[in-house]
Amino acid sequence: MNNLHDNHNHSQFSFDGGRTSVEKSASAAKAAGLAGICFTDHCDFYVPPMKAAHENLVSEVFDVKAQQKEIDRVNGLLSDGSFRIYKGVEIGLQKKSREDIRRFLDENSFDEIIASVHYIDDTDPFYGGYYDGKDWRQAYGHYLETIYEEMTWLGDFDVMGHYDYVARYAPYPQASIFYRDFSDISDMMLRYLAENGKAIEINTKTYQDYNGRTPVLDMDMLRRFRELGGEAVSLGSDSHDPFRPGDKFIRYAEAAKSAGFRYLAHFENRKAVMLPIG
Ligand SMILES: [Zn+2]
Repeated sequence: MNNLHDNHNHSQFSFDGGRTSVEKSASAAKAAGLAGICFTDHCDFYVPPMKAAHENLVSEVFDVKAQQKEIDRVNGLLSDGSFRIYKGVEIGLQKKSREDIRRFLDENSFDEIIASVHYIDDTDPFYGGYYDGKDWRQAYGHYLETIYEEMTWLGDFDVMGHYDYVARYAPYPQASIFYRDFSDISDMMLRYLAENGKAIEINTKTYQDYNGRTPVLDMDMLRRFRELGGEAVSLGSDSHDPFRPGDKFIRYAEAAKSAGFRYLAHFENRKAVMLPIG
């Protein structure tokens, strides 16, 4: 895996990270031959009532100081000339949390900020309510519009996280989000990323079987990003388990290459570092 970096991982500091730890996942990443791993623990200030009731949580904000201290400790054990651990956050976009998000990002510093949408219309798509009364076009389209609206409000981020997250848990036979079905809003998203030097994420967790459906990465989405001047592609496994860092990265690095990208991005102190694809 020579110079590949996994830019999206969760540790014990995420509310749902109890199956692994910084040390376990970083050790596994190093053993798998990755050159770096970034821990992007969840930070969602608002949790929809349906989920709060299921999981007895009202907020999903992590202890940044503790996470960064632990990363420093494990870097001391594992980092060397060919491997390093980075400090990140996956900030959950949500209109009603805008003030909290801005304050949180002003008060803390990271190598990398992923901007994601997990909760929408007061629902958690994982638990399903989001899809009720919507067909696939409405459900996917509204999700893309929401990412666009919130990420352009935020501005202060490096990677647009899993734009097709909402397809993961959807009930529709239409299992994937394709550029051709959402070209207008996709162009707006991709143009914004390209013009502002931000990265699109290939989130390899999305492209696996879930309830008998397997979303696929739309190559047209990647090609269009390139066409609009986009340069930064970020690979992320979205791991919550020590065996997943770097999952399917060779395949998706090749996909990025075949869509016209020559480099993959990772982030150090909020700057994109571009390394040639293998
Ligand atoms: Zn996420």
